[in-house]
Amino acid sequence: MVVGGGHNGLVAAAYLARSGRSVLVLERLPELGGAAVSRQVFEGVDVRLSAYSYLVSLLPNRIVADLGLQLRLVDRSVASYTATVRDGRPAGLLVERDEGPATATSFRQLTGSDDEFAGWQRFYGRLVTLAEDLAPTLTEPLLSPTDLAGRLRDPGLWHDLRERPLADVVADCLSDDVVRGVALTDGLIGTFADVHAADGLAGRCFLYHLVGNGTGRWRVPVGGMGAVTGAMAAAARRAGAELRSRATVTAVEPRADGVTVHWTDEDGGAAAADAGHVVAGVAPRVLAQLTGADPGPSPSGSQLKVNMVLARLPRLRSGADPATAFAGTFHVDEAAGQLDAAYTQAAAGRLPDVIPFEVYCHSLTDPSILGPVERATGRHTLTLFGLHTPAELFRSDPEGVRDEAVRRVVAQLDAHLEEPLLDCLERDAAGRPCLQAASPLDVEASLAMPGGHIFHGDLSWPVAATDDEVGTWGVTTDHPRILSASSGGTVRGGAVSGLGGYAAARHLLDGR
Ligand SMILES: Cc1cc2nc3c(=O)[nH]c(=O)nc-3n(C[C@H](O)[C@H](O)[C@H](O)COP(=O)(O)OP(=O)(O)OC[C@H]3O[C@@H](n4cnc5c(N)ncnc54)[C@H](O)[C@@H]3O)c2cc1C
Repeated sequence: MVVGGGHNGLVAAAYLARSGRSVLVLERLPELGGAAVSRQVFEGVDVRLSAYSYLVSLLPNRIVADLGLQLRLVDRSVASYTATVRDGRPAGLLVERDEGPATATSFRQLTGSDDEFAGWQRFYGRLVTLAEDLAPTLTEPLLSPTDLAGRLRDPGLWHDLRERPLADVVADCLSDDVVRGVALTDGLIGTFADVHAADGLAGRCFLYHLVGNGTGRWRVPVGGMGAVTGAMAAAARRAGAELRSRATVTAVEPRADGVTVHWTDEDGGAAAADAGHVVAGVAPRVLAQLTGADPGPSPSGSQLKVNMVLARLPRLRSGADPATAFAGTFHVDEAAGQLDAAYTQAAAGRLPDVIPFEVYCHSLTDPSILGPVERATGRHTLTLFGLHTPAELFRSDPEGVRDEAVRRVVAQLDAHLEEPLLDCLERDAAGRPCLQAASPLDVEASLAMPGGHIFHGDLSWPVAATDDEVGTWGVTTDHPRILSASSGGTVRGGAVSGLGGYAAARHLLDGR
């Protein structure tokens, strides 16, 4: 039995059903997919937004091929654009997906020489080598740190990311404040970390953002995130799994020879069934509550997510073409110094005066998420992801602090626009601007992600943490009949990857 129908639960279900096991998936929400879903968010506006997660990098091609997943992941033409002000004038840094002359020129114009681009290429060249060597290990049993280092052509970078503060590793190659910030953000997505600390927190987050499929490229799922989990659900069903939504698991009782699972169904009726094993696609804290164990302290998410539909893309003060700038990750106020200032304020319990964030327009790469009218009239989506906004900041006044955070990021974005963002927003059927914001508390309330932490808790290094873990799949719990599959419950399950579900299924199928 699989508890939780997020991407990890669905991948586990698909692999297990394909091997002939009898599989029942229980999901509490009306739709499957967890944090990887698409839906029409604004009444009367025919646009299917990836409501939470939106880009895919870590889903291995191997899982796509094994399960015959019918999905298309496409590259964005632009990796990133950073809006900034240099010498009192609006400026920007363009990084193309394939870094060519336009990228080199952009670095030169921003920094005044070719040195920074050379440092950038050196740094990311090393990271690609690391990604190529590390990615294949993610679908193998866990290696010891020594064995993993032995598989790497550049063990020095792996060592640095594990042992040194991320800010220092980045500073080895990059000196410009804005450019350093662009690199550092990958260590802070959904992770409240001090990039100057040697605790590995930012380093782990950084690594997961750079190694996917050996390229680290973040691709756009055509049709949105719901298309990804829809394909996984279809694969599980094809293989014979039964997927039940609106089924909230209330207790999981392990015994020596099996597990009894209790749940309430759609009508509120109580049900129970016995299973040989339970695969937990829910966060570790949720699993602890279901088994009656001590759930321990809650993790804390640290992001602000804003979904928008635009009537038109706003023009930029820098003169850059918005269709280029918004096609990749558009960084705002994410220079290294700004990240530090925001971290310091948030760590002191204050909403940062300047919230670092990035925005991205899905519909530029994948117009299929727009209805026919929206497409014909030039509507677009915009997703905003803010950093250094830990859950604790919202607890005293959830809506008031969230509204204030939104007010700040809109004003910060406006500073780079020729026309105010609010003027560019589409209106819903009731005439309200199409803008929906979620703090970590909102994510917790809607998705049962404890503390609204997007990875269910801090990410782990993708290696065995102890000698006993070497050669295992990193999915065991206190009960031999309960395996974890989820982002936070498995060693390598973070983000939309299916890796936790894959590992749980392999554990059961390989008998490890
Ligand atoms: C705002 C946001 C943006 C993100 N952006 C990205 C991104 O762009 N790319 C990326 O790779 N990752 C992103 N992530 C992270 C990623 O979405 C998660 O790490 C991932 O979805 C976790 O997957 P999962 O299957 O382990 O768990 P979940 O997606 O959390 O699924 C767990 C499921 O279990 C269900 N459940 C909980 N309790 C019960 C119960 N008692 N009974 C039955 N079912 C239950 C839940 O309803 C849920 O469907 C983002 C996350 C968020 C929140």
